[in-house]
Amino acid sequence: MKLDYTYTEICEITKGELLAFQNGTNITSIVFDSRKIISAENVLFFALNGDFRNGHSFLQDAHQKGIRHFVVSENISKTLLPDSTIIQVENTLIALQQIASHHRQKFTYPIVAITGSVGKTMVKEWIYHFLASKFRIIRSPKSFNSQLGVALSLLELHEQADIALIEMGISKSDEMNRLEKIVSPDLGVFTAFGSAHQSNFLSHQVHLNEKLIAFKNCAKTIYHASIILTPTQLEFCNGKMIDETILENYIKIPFQDKISKHNVSLAIAFAKEFGLTDEEINQKIKTLPHLAMRMEVFEGINGNTIINDTYNLDIDALTYSLEYQLSISEKQNRVVIIGLDEEAQLRKNEIENLISPFKPEKTIYICGNDSVIAQIENSIILIKGSRKSNMQKIASQFRLKKHKTYLEIDLNAIRSNLAVFKSYLNPDTKILAMVKASSYGSGVERMAAFLEKQGVNYLGVAYADEGVELRKLGITTPILVMNAEEEGFEDCIQFNLEPAIYSFKQLDEFIKELIASGKSAYPIHLKIDTGMRRLGFEIYETEQIIEILQAQPEIRVESVYTHLAETDNFESREFTLKQIEQFNNVCEKLESHLMYKFNKHTLNSEGIANYSDYQLNMVRLGIGMYGYSSNPELKTKLQASIFWKSVVSQVKIVQKNESVGYNRTFKAEEHTQIAIIPVGYADGFKRCLSNGIGSVFIQNQPCKVLGRVCMDMLMVDVTNKNVSEGDEVEIIGLTKTMEEFANQSNTIPYEVMTSISKRVHRVYLEN
Ligand SMILES: *Cc1c(COP(=O)(O)O)cnc(C)c1O
Repeated sequence: MKLDYTYTEICEITKGELLAFQNGTNITSIVFDSRKIISAENVLFFALNGDFRNGHSFLQDAHQKGIRHFVVSENISKTLLPDSTIIQVENTLIALQQIASHHRQKFTYPIVAITGSVGKTMVKEWIYHFLASKFRIIRSPKSFNSQLGVALSLLELHEQADIALIEMGISKSDEMNRLEKIVSPDLGVFTAFGSAHQSNFLSHQVHLNEKLIAFKNCAKTIYHASIILTPTQLEFCNGKMIDETILENYIKIPFQDKISKHNVSLAIAFAKEFGLTDEEINQKIKTLPHLAMRMEVFEGINGNTIINDTYNLDIDALTYSLEYQLSISEKQNRVVIIGLDEEAQLRKNEIENLISPFKPEKTIYICGNDSVIAQIENSIILIKGSRKSNMQKIASQFRLKKHKTYLEIDLNAIRSNLAVFKSYLNPDTKILAMVKASSYGSGVERMAAFLEKQGVNYLGVAYADEGVELRKLGITTPILVMNAEEEGFEDCIQFNLEPAIYSFKQLDEFIKELIASGKSAYPIHLKIDTGMRRLGFEIYETEQIIEILQAQPEIRVESVYTHLAETDNFESREFTLKQIEQFNNVCEKLESHLMYKFNKHTLNSEGIANYSDYQLNMVRLGIGMYGYSSNPELKTKLQASIFWKSVVSQVKIVQKNESVGYNRTFKAEEHTQIAIIPVGYADGFKRCLSNGIGSVFIQNQPCKVLGRVCMDMLMVDVTNKNVSEGDEVEIIGLTKTMEEFANQSNTIPYEVMTSISKRVHRVYLEN
């Protein structure tokens, strides 16, 4: 929020009375939740009276946190808030809305109202996706669409924008009138009209008319064809009807479910109104973000469909999930299962009130370690709860076990790790993210799109094929191919991939290929060997390189790099610094002859942390993104992101003297209980982990491997442990760490990650 209002203005706008006046600084932002006060200077605190909380009870808390400016509606004793300015109004929410409405009137760019019974947030975010590269857009945070949320969204408006997207939601009669007055939108999007909140309205038409009030002054309202408008209604809102046939003009969108198609259609129609060309729209479709990603929808047991949204239980997210559930259930029953941790138990009333208008057939609240006993069939089940509430376990009980073994990649952790690495770098140092070997086994398709979205400057692959695959997926970030082979040069040129050049023969071949295809100034990367003794030009070849480069306009050196042999070991610091010094010498020579600048890079993940002084202007980040490092200090900042999980297939008793597995290498000395797990060396669980060397975790307890690891299965010891069929098994995760697994396998995380077989299903977690 960047406001600038004087007291006189605030009093005038809200018709408030100045109860106390301390100083005349201008107000720059507004808060209403004393828990969320970060900075207090020039901040105006509104004591709002909600259904569950009276803001006036938090005045002192706010004062203690440094707030000195208050708007109240109740009679309060001024002595409670010394040294403060206090404005009294009749109703603090209305006063806040008046300021928002006044603020809105300052701006003349289009304000867009997005309303509808479902899909508002999705449509808003997708419109943003389509338009953001051409326009400066302000949009409501999350799904701020209530009377309060809309006001807060409007207070975010500022001069440096071209469009504002404001979500508007109503649950009671006459609310829209109020919202429309505050927002006074110029354009509208009406996403859908369904039965949520329906019970509070007299009839379907009354409700529809009420919603349409949002658009009464709109020059145009884009609405979905599922909403049937009478000619009068159509004229009232200047409606323009859109349906999914609009998608036929474009490449296939990445999600084929009904609700995504519905919402993308609206977003595309809107983007076209703002002049986006079909070509631009196609480009944007390629990178359309999946907004329901945190929410996983899967096929469950007993014909149920499960919406697993067990990340948090905040109110916005709950509304969104309920809307989503409503939208995908046609005639099926809806069941809502809410996990209440201690904090949420206090909010149970609020949660109940939020759910009740959606009228699910059944709502089940789960506290602590309860499990769901009720028999549920053929329903759409929404499972919701914070991470603490352990609802993930409930969700996995409902999962139809098709892929028992899977690798979960936590993109949130990776995002946070990227930020950690950035903290070692200057703001303008470029990052090349390595996505070779299927992005270290994590699956290149999703990872490359994710990294592109995070704004990495370059992607690095090992072979041209890998780069071609990325281009076909719509990745537009520059791509460096490290082992560019002659056979792949044609592909490089066709798909705009930039080869690393490490020998004269290769350089010569590539130039020939460029001449044949009529290209000039094509970007290449020179790889110099400074001591790794792997691919790379020798240092003494520098002069000869310069001669060729000067004579060949077909190529342009985009970057020069070298690879350091030991960035993770301080004992070889001298060797590493020598490598860097030699590299710098080569660069200097090249630069003095080439007459143009190129990027220079030497550091890998460990290098970034250990040699950040030598970051030059680019670095090559790989394994660190996933949260693995041998630097103890760095390690504490990173989060593990790879979780390999499976499920117990069977539990059985092995009698004394019986043996387990091939060649009978394990013989029971006593009654032993074993669990069989459907993971073997063909999945990447190495055979050297046989006979107690390796272990897995079940119910947070280590269980040693018994006998030999088979191709597709292994057996572990669960004697005296309460383990049953269907229990989740952690092969790699928080209890059985990647590093420990790698150690026991006598290797390093790199090899473990890239050896987890393709048949292990990859799933992604993203908030
Ligand atoms: C793989 C690779 C990297 C990344 O290394 P990490 O140790 O995973 O950070 C950097 N540079 C080159 C040349 C590589 O091959």
